[in-house]
Amino acid sequence: MNNNVKKIAILGSTGSIGTQALDVISKHKSLFEVEVLTANNNADLLIKQAEQHNPNFVVICNEKKYPDVFAALDKKGIKVFCGAKSIEDVVESESIDIVLTALVGYSGLMPTIKAIKNGKRIALANKETLVVAGDLITKMSLEYGAEIIPVDSEHSAIFQCLVGEGINQIEKIFLTASGGPFRGLDASQLREITKKEALKHPNWDMGAKITIDSATLMNKGLEVIEAKWLFDLTSSQIEVVVHPQSIIHSAVQFEDGSVKAQLGLPDMMLPIQYALGFPKRIKNRFERFSFFDYPELTFEKPDFKTFKNLNLAYLAMERGGNAPCILNAANEVAVEAFLKDKIAFLKMPDLIGNCLEKINFVANPCVEDYVETDLQTRALAKKIISNGSNFN
Ligand code: MG
Repeated sequence: MNNNVKKIAILGSTGSIGTQALDVISKHKSLFEVEVLTANNNADLLIKQAEQHNPNFVVICNEKKYPDVFAALDKKGIKVFCGAKSIEDVVESESIDIVLTALVGYSGLMPTIKAIKNGKRIALANKETLVVAGDLITKMSLEYGAEIIPVDSEHSAIFQCLVGEGINQIEKIFLTASGGPFRGLDASQLREITKKEALKHPNWDMGAKITIDSATLMNKGLEVIEAKWLFDLTSSQIEVVVHPQSIIHSAVQFEDGSVKAQLGLPDMMLPIQYALGFPKRIKNRFERFSFFDYPELTFEKPDFKTFKNLNLAYLAMERGGNAPCILNAANEVAVEAFLKDKIAFLKMPDLIGNCLEKINFVANPCVEDYVETDLQTRALAKKIISNGSNFN
Protein backbone atom coordinates (compact mmCIF):
# COMPACT_ATOMS: atom_id res chain seq x y z
CA MET A 1 0.00 0.00 0.00
CA ASN A 2 1.25 3.42 -0.92
CA ASN A 3 1.49 5.45 2.28
CA ASN A 4 1.00 8.71 0.43
CA VAL A 5 -2.52 7.73 -0.53
CA LYS A 6 -5.00 9.48 1.73
CA LYS A 7 -8.07 7.51 2.68
CA ILE A 8 -11.23 9.56 2.65
CA ALA A 9 -14.60 9.20 4.33
CA ILE A 10 -17.27 11.23 2.57
CA LEU A 11 -20.26 11.90 4.80
CA GLY A 12 -23.06 12.89 2.46
CA SER A 13 -21.59 11.47 -0.74
CA THR A 14 -24.73 11.81 -2.88
CA GLY A 15 -25.15 15.56 -2.33
CA SER A 16 -23.64 18.40 -4.30
CA ILE A 17 -20.32 18.56 -2.40
CA GLY A 18 -20.11 14.76 -2.07
CA THR A 19 -20.46 14.09 -5.80
CA GLN A 20 -17.95 16.81 -6.65
CA ALA A 21 -15.51 15.38 -4.09
CA LEU A 22 -15.77 11.98 -5.78
CA ASP A 23 -15.06 13.72 -9.05
CA VAL A 24 -11.89 15.24 -7.56
CA ILE A 25 -10.86 11.86 -6.15
CA SER A 26 -11.34 10.02 -9.43
CA LYS A 27 -9.09 12.55 -11.14
CA HIS A 28 -6.32 11.89 -8.57
CA LYS A 29 -6.36 8.17 -7.88
CA SER A 30 -2.70 8.11 -6.96
CA LEU A 31 -3.41 10.53 -4.09
CA PHE A 32 -6.81 9.63 -2.72
CA GLU A 33 -8.84 6.53 -2.01
CA VAL A 34 -12.44 6.28 -0.86
CA GLU A 35 -12.84 4.45 2.44
CA VAL A 36 -16.38 5.38 3.48
CA LEU A 37 -19.46 6.70 1.68
CA THR A 38 -22.68 7.69 3.42
CA ALA A 39 -26.05 8.86 2.12
CA ASN A 40 -29.42 9.73 3.59
CA ASN A 41 -31.90 8.41 1.04
CA ASN A 42 -30.38 8.17 -2.39
CA ALA A 43 -29.67 4.43 -2.39
CA ASP A 44 -29.34 4.16 -6.17
CA LEU A 45 -26.61 6.76 -6.41
CA LEU A 46 -24.87 5.43 -3.29
CA ILE A 47 -24.72 1.95 -4.86
CA LYS A 48 -23.41 3.37 -8.11
CA GLN A 49 -20.73 5.39 -6.28
CA ALA A 50 -19.70 2.38 -4.20
CA GLU A 51 -19.41 0.17 -7.27
CA GLN A 52 -17.21 2.76 -8.88
CA HIS A 53 -15.01 3.71 -5.90
CA ASN A 54 -14.99 0.47 -3.94
CA PRO A 55 -15.04 1.80 -0.35
CA ASN A 56 -14.71 -0.50 2.67
CA PHE A 57 -17.86 0.84 4.32
CA VAL A 58 -21.09 2.46 3.24
CA VAL A 59 -23.91 3.78 5.39
CA ILE A 60 -27.46 4.37 4.19
CA CYS A 61 -29.34 6.39 6.82
CA ASN A 62 -32.84 5.49 5.67
CA GLU A 63 -33.30 1.99 7.08
CA LYS A 64 -35.95 1.11 4.50
CA LYS A 65 -33.33 1.32 1.78
CA TYR A 66 -30.87 -0.94 3.59
CA PRO A 67 -31.92 -4.26 1.98
CA ASP A 68 -31.34 -2.88 -1.53
CA VAL A 69 -27.96 -1.42 -0.69
CA PHE A 70 -26.90 -4.57 1.15
CA ALA A 71 -27.99 -6.81 -1.72
CA ALA A 72 -26.01 -4.78 -4.23
CA LEU A 73 -22.80 -4.27 -2.27
CA ASP A 74 -22.31 -7.07 0.26
CA LYS A 75 -21.32 -9.53 -2.48
CA LYS A 76 -18.59 -7.11 -3.50
CA GLY A 77 -17.08 -7.24 0.00
CA ILE A 78 -18.32 -3.77 0.97
CA LYS A 79 -19.66 -3.57 4.52
CA VAL A 80 -23.09 -1.98 4.59
CA PHE A 81 -24.65 -0.29 7.65
CA CYS A 82 -27.80 1.69 8.17
CA GLY A 83 -29.12 4.46 10.40
CA ALA A 84 -27.65 7.88 11.19
CA LYS A 85 -25.92 6.51 14.30
CA SER A 86 -23.79 4.21 12.12
CA ILE A 87 -22.11 7.26 10.60
CA GLU A 88 -20.76 8.11 14.05
CA ASP A 89 -19.35 4.58 14.31
CA VAL A 90 -17.71 4.29 10.90
CA VAL A 91 -15.82 7.59 11.19
CA GLU A 92 -13.88 6.02 14.04
CA SER A 93 -12.31 3.50 11.67
CA GLU A 94 -8.55 3.59 11.99
CA SER A 95 -8.03 3.42 8.26
CA ILE A 96 -9.54 6.88 7.64
CA ASP A 97 -7.21 9.87 7.19
CA ILE A 98 -9.68 12.59 6.21
CA VAL A 99 -13.37 12.96 6.96
CA LEU A 100 -15.19 15.20 4.50
CA THR A 101 -18.31 16.37 6.31
CA ALA A 102 -20.79 17.20 3.57
CA LEU A 103 -23.92 16.42 5.56
CA VAL A 104 -26.71 18.97 5.54
CA GLY A 105 -27.43 20.98 8.68
CA TYR A 106 -27.39 19.91 12.31
CA SER A 107 -27.01 16.24 11.35
CA GLY A 108 -23.30 16.91 10.82
CA LEU A 109 -22.60 17.69 14.46
CA MET A 110 -22.29 14.29 16.13
CA PRO A 111 -20.28 12.55 13.37
CA THR A 112 -17.90 15.53 13.31
CA ILE A 113 -17.40 15.30 17.07
CA LYS A 114 -16.61 11.58 16.72
CA ALA A 115 -14.17 12.22 13.89
CA ILE A 116 -12.39 14.93 15.89
CA LYS A 117 -12.13 12.67 18.93
CA ASN A 118 -10.38 10.18 16.70
CA GLY A 119 -7.90 12.77 15.50
CA LYS A 120 -9.01 12.75 11.87
CA ARG A 121 -8.45 15.67 9.59
CA ILE A 122 -11.82 17.31 9.00
CA ALA A 123 -12.53 18.73 5.57
CA LEU A 124 -15.45 20.81 6.77
CA ALA A 125 -18.25 21.38 4.29
CA ASN A 126 -20.95 21.32 6.95
CA LYS A 127 -20.90 24.89 8.27
CA GLU A 128 -23.83 24.26 10.62
CA THR A 129 -21.55 22.18 12.86
CA LEU A 130 -19.49 25.27 13.70
CA VAL A 131 -22.56 27.47 13.88
CA VAL A 132 -24.25 25.21 16.42
CA ALA A 133 -21.27 24.32 18.58
CA GLY A 134 -18.24 26.30 17.41
CA ASP A 135 -16.87 26.77 20.90
CA LEU A 136 -16.91 23.07 21.65
CA ILE A 137 -15.67 21.98 18.21
CA THR A 138 -12.70 24.35 18.12
CA LYS A 139 -11.63 23.40 21.66
CA MET A 140 -11.91 19.72 20.83
CA SER A 141 -9.98 20.04 17.60
CA LEU A 142 -7.06 21.50 19.59
CA GLU A 143 -7.35 18.89 22.32
CA TYR A 144 -7.36 15.93 19.92
CA GLY A 145 -5.03 17.42 17.32
CA ALA A 146 -7.64 17.17 14.58
CA GLU A 147 -7.09 19.84 11.94
CA ILE A 148 -10.17 21.50 10.47
CA ILE A 149 -9.71 22.57 6.86
CA PRO A 150 -12.66 24.58 5.53
CA VAL A 151 -14.31 23.58 2.25
CA ASP A 152 -16.73 26.51 2.14
CA SER A 153 -15.31 28.67 -0.66
CA GLU A 154 -15.08 31.87 1.42
CA HIS A 155 -13.40 30.17 4.34
CA SER A 156 -11.09 28.25 2.07
CA ALA A 157 -10.10 31.61 0.58
CA ILE A 158 -9.32 33.08 4.00
CA PHE A 159 -7.50 29.92 5.02
CA GLN A 160 -5.38 30.12 1.85
CA CYS A 161 -4.63 33.82 2.51
CA LEU A 162 -3.34 32.89 5.98
CA VAL A 163 -0.88 30.24 4.82
CA GLY A 164 2.59 31.46 5.73
CA GLU A 165 1.29 34.29 7.93
CA GLY A 166 1.93 32.44 11.22
CA ILE A 167 2.59 35.20 13.74
CA ASN A 168 0.72 37.94 11.87
CA GLN A 169 -2.58 39.08 13.32
CA ILE A 170 -5.74 39.49 11.29
CA GLU A 171 -7.19 42.99 11.55
CA LYS A 172 -10.37 42.01 9.78
CA ILE A 173 -11.72 39.77 7.06
CA PHE A 174 -13.89 40.63 4.09
CA LEU A 175 -16.37 37.82 3.62
CA THR A 176 -17.73 38.10 0.11
CA ALA A 177 -21.32 37.26 -0.82
CA SER A 178 -22.95 37.02 -4.23
CA GLY A 179 -26.06 38.64 -2.80
CA GLY A 180 -28.16 35.74 -4.05
CA PRO A 181 -30.92 35.85 -6.66
CA PHE A 182 -32.85 38.69 -4.97
CA ARG A 183 -30.11 41.25 -4.57
CA GLY A 184 -31.46 44.78 -4.99
CA LEU A 185 -35.09 43.84 -4.26
CA ASP A 186 -36.98 45.35 -1.35
CA ALA A 187 -39.35 43.69 1.12
CA SER A 188 -42.46 44.42 -0.94
CA GLN A 189 -40.93 42.58 -3.89
CA LEU A 190 -39.87 39.63 -1.74
CA ARG A 191 -43.28 39.01 -0.25
CA GLU A 192 -44.53 36.84 -3.11
CA ILE A 193 -41.29 35.03 -3.92
CA THR A 194 -41.86 31.36 -4.82
CA LYS A 195 -39.55 28.48 -4.02
CA LYS A 196 -38.87 28.04 -7.73
CA GLU A 197 -37.49 31.58 -7.91
CA ALA A 198 -35.55 31.13 -4.68
CA LEU A 199 -33.97 27.91 -5.90
CA LYS A 200 -32.29 29.66 -8.84
CA HIS A 201 -28.87 30.87 -7.78
CA PRO A 202 -27.02 33.17 -10.22
CA ASN A 203 -23.48 31.76 -9.75
CA TRP A 204 -23.37 28.59 -7.69
CA ASP A 205 -25.03 25.24 -8.30
CA MET A 206 -25.78 23.79 -4.85
CA GLY A 207 -28.24 21.75 -2.79
CA ALA A 208 -31.74 23.05 -1.91
CA LYS A 209 -31.06 24.02 1.73
CA ILE A 210 -28.00 26.15 0.97
CA THR A 211 -29.61 27.68 -2.11
CA ILE A 212 -32.55 28.94 -0.03
CA ASP A 213 -30.08 30.09 2.64
CA SER A 214 -28.26 32.05 -0.07
CA ALA A 215 -31.49 33.69 -1.20
CA THR A 216 -32.32 34.84 2.36
CA LEU A 217 -28.66 35.69 3.14
CA MET A 218 -28.81 33.24 6.04
CA ASN A 219 -26.02 31.37 4.30
CA LYS A 220 -23.82 34.43 4.75
CA GLY A 221 -24.98 34.76 8.34
CA LEU A 222 -24.01 31.16 9.04
CA GLU A 223 -20.68 31.79 7.32
CA VAL A 224 -20.01 34.83 9.51
CA ILE A 225 -20.37 32.58 12.57
CA GLU A 226 -18.33 29.84 10.89
CA ALA A 227 -15.54 32.39 10.25
CA LYS A 228 -15.61 33.58 13.85
CA TRP A 229 -14.75 30.09 15.08
CA LEU A 230 -12.37 29.02 12.32
CA PHE A 231 -10.23 32.16 12.56
CA ASP A 232 -10.88 33.26 16.16
CA LEU A 233 -12.47 36.61 15.26
CA THR A 234 -14.85 39.03 16.93
CA SER A 235 -18.00 40.29 15.29
CA SER A 236 -16.43 43.66 14.40
CA GLN A 237 -13.60 41.88 12.56
CA ILE A 238 -15.96 40.27 10.04
CA GLU A 239 -17.30 42.46 7.25
CA VAL A 240 -19.67 41.09 4.63
CA VAL A 241 -19.10 42.51 1.17
CA VAL A 242 -21.59 41.83 -1.61
CA HIS A 243 -19.67 40.94 -4.75
CA PRO A 244 -22.13 39.68 -7.38
CA GLN A 245 -19.53 38.12 -9.72
CA SER A 246 -18.28 35.64 -7.05
CA ILE A 247 -14.69 35.86 -8.27
CA ILE A 248 -13.02 37.17 -5.11
CA HIS A 249 -13.87 34.38 -2.69
CA SER A 250 -12.90 36.46 0.37
CA ALA A 251 -9.99 38.52 1.69
CA VAL A 252 -7.94 39.15 4.81
CA GLN A 253 -6.68 42.53 6.00
CA PHE A 254 -3.61 42.36 8.23
CA GLU A 255 -2.47 44.84 10.88
CA ASP A 256 -0.33 46.77 8.42
CA GLY A 257 -3.41 47.42 6.27
CA SER A 258 -2.32 45.02 3.55
CA VAL A 259 -5.16 42.97 2.04
CA LYS A 260 -4.72 39.48 0.60
CA ALA A 261 -7.52 37.90 -1.39
CA GLN A 262 -8.04 34.59 -3.12
CA LEU A 263 -9.67 34.62 -6.55
CA GLY A 264 -10.98 32.06 -8.98
CA LEU A 265 -14.00 30.94 -10.92
CA PRO A 266 -16.99 29.98 -8.79
CA ASP A 267 -16.44 26.22 -8.75
CA MET A 268 -16.48 24.14 -5.56
CA MET A 269 -14.08 21.57 -7.03
CA LEU A 270 -11.16 23.85 -6.18
CA PRO A 271 -11.83 24.35 -2.44
CA ILE A 272 -12.71 20.65 -2.13
CA GLN A 273 -9.44 19.62 -3.75
CA TYR A 274 -7.50 22.14 -1.66
CA ALA A 275 -8.95 20.78 1.60
CA LEU A 276 -8.17 17.18 0.63
CA GLY A 277 -4.67 17.93 -0.64
CA PHE A 278 -3.57 20.59 1.88
CA PRO A 279 -0.81 21.70 2.25
CA LYS A 280 -0.10 20.62 -1.32
CA ARG A 281 -1.71 22.31 -4.30
CA ILE A 282 -2.54 19.65 -6.84
CA LYS A 283 -2.16 20.32 -10.54
CA ASN A 284 -5.44 20.02 -12.40
CA ARG A 285 -7.21 20.89 -15.61
CA PHE A 286 -10.04 22.94 -14.12
CA GLU A 287 -11.12 25.87 -16.23
CA ARG A 288 -8.86 28.89 -15.64
CA PHE A 289 -9.90 32.37 -14.61
CA SER A 290 -9.15 35.31 -16.89
CA PHE A 291 -9.32 38.93 -15.75
CA PHE A 292 -10.41 39.92 -19.24
CA ASP A 293 -13.59 37.84 -18.94
CA TYR A 294 -14.45 39.94 -15.87
CA PRO A 295 -13.55 43.53 -16.69
CA GLU A 296 -15.82 44.70 -13.88
CA LEU A 297 -15.70 43.33 -10.39
CA THR A 298 -18.20 45.22 -8.25
CA PHE A 299 -18.85 45.58 -4.53
CA GLU A 300 -21.81 46.67 -2.42
CA LYS A 301 -22.86 46.82 1.20
CA PRO A 302 -25.31 44.09 2.20
CA ASP A 303 -28.93 45.13 2.73
CA PHE A 304 -29.43 44.20 6.39
CA LYS A 305 -32.86 45.82 6.47
CA THR A 306 -34.42 43.67 3.77
CA PHE A 307 -32.47 40.49 4.48
CA LYS A 308 -33.07 40.27 8.20
CA ASN A 309 -31.46 36.85 8.53
CA LEU A 310 -28.01 38.35 8.24
CA ASN A 311 -28.77 40.67 11.13
CA LEU A 312 -30.17 37.81 13.19
CA ALA A 313 -26.99 35.82 12.64
CA TYR A 314 -24.79 38.68 13.86
CA LEU A 315 -27.09 39.10 16.88
CA ALA A 316 -26.97 35.39 17.71
CA MET A 317 -23.19 35.36 17.35
CA GLU A 318 -22.80 38.37 19.63
CA ARG A 319 -25.14 36.85 22.20
CA GLY A 320 -23.15 33.60 22.08
CA GLY A 321 -24.01 30.55 24.19
CA ASN A 322 -26.77 28.49 22.59
CA ALA A 323 -28.13 31.44 20.53
CA PRO A 324 -26.49 30.35 17.24
CA CYS A 325 -27.82 26.83 17.87
CA ILE A 326 -31.35 28.29 18.19
CA LEU A 327 -30.78 30.35 15.04
CA ASN A 328 -29.70 27.29 13.11
CA ALA A 329 -32.49 24.97 14.26
CA ALA A 330 -35.18 27.60 13.61
CA ASN A 331 -33.67 28.26 10.19
CA GLU A 332 -33.66 24.56 9.25
CA VAL A 333 -37.35 24.31 10.14
CA ALA A 334 -38.08 27.58 8.32
CA VAL A 335 -36.33 26.48 5.11
CA GLU A 336 -38.06 23.12 5.13
CA ALA A 337 -41.44 24.80 5.66
CA PHE A 338 -40.73 27.27 2.84
CA LEU A 339 -39.76 24.41 0.51
CA LYS A 340 -43.06 22.71 1.36
CA ASP A 341 -45.00 25.94 0.68
CA LYS A 342 -46.04 26.18 4.32
CA ILE A 343 -44.63 29.65 4.97
CA ALA A 344 -43.82 32.68 2.84
CA PHE A 345 -40.29 33.86 2.08
CA LEU A 346 -40.39 36.79 4.50
CA LYS A 347 -41.83 34.66 7.29
CA MET A 348 -38.53 32.79 7.60
CA PRO A 349 -36.70 35.58 9.49
CA ASP A 350 -39.85 36.23 11.55
CA LEU A 351 -39.90 32.63 12.68
CA ILE A 352 -36.20 32.63 13.54
CA GLY A 353 -36.44 35.91 15.46
CA ASN A 354 -39.39 34.51 17.37
CA CYS A 355 -37.45 31.40 18.43
CA LEU A 356 -34.42 33.47 19.47
CA GLU A 357 -36.68 35.43 21.80
CA LYS A 358 -38.50 32.49 23.31
CA ILE A 359 -36.04 29.64 23.76
CA ASN A 360 -34.13 29.65 27.06
CA PHE A 361 -30.66 31.11 26.83
CA VAL A 362 -27.76 28.93 28.00
CA ALA A 363 -24.50 30.87 28.37
CA ASN A 364 -22.05 27.95 28.48
CA PRO A 365 -23.67 24.99 26.76
CA CYS A 366 -22.29 21.43 26.78
CA VAL A 367 -23.11 18.87 24.06
CA GLU A 368 -26.32 17.83 25.83
CA ASP A 369 -27.44 21.47 26.01
CA TYR A 370 -26.97 21.83 22.26
CA VAL A 371 -28.98 18.67 21.63
CA GLU A 372 -31.73 19.94 23.96
CA THR A 373 -31.73 23.44 22.43
CA ASP A 374 -31.97 21.99 18.95
CA LEU A 375 -34.93 19.77 19.92
CA GLN A 376 -36.77 22.53 21.78
CA THR A 377 -36.28 25.06 19.01
CA ARG A 378 -37.51 22.69 16.31
CA ALA A 379 -40.59 21.85 18.37
CA LEU A 380 -41.35 25.53 19.01
CA ALA A 381 -40.78 26.53 15.38
CA LYS A 382 -43.08 23.78 14.14
CA LYS A 383 -45.72 24.75 16.67
CA ILE A 384 -45.59 28.39 15.59
CA ILE A 385 -45.97 27.35 11.95
CA SER A 386 -48.91 25.04 12.63
CA ASN A 387 -50.63 27.76 14.66
CA GLY A 388 -50.91 29.80 11.48
CA SER A 389 -48.71 32.05 9.45
CA ASN A 390 -49.64 35.34 11.10
CA PHE A 391 -46.83 35.25 13.60
CA ASN A 392 -44.20 37.91 13.69
MG1 MG B 1 -19.87 29.70 0.95
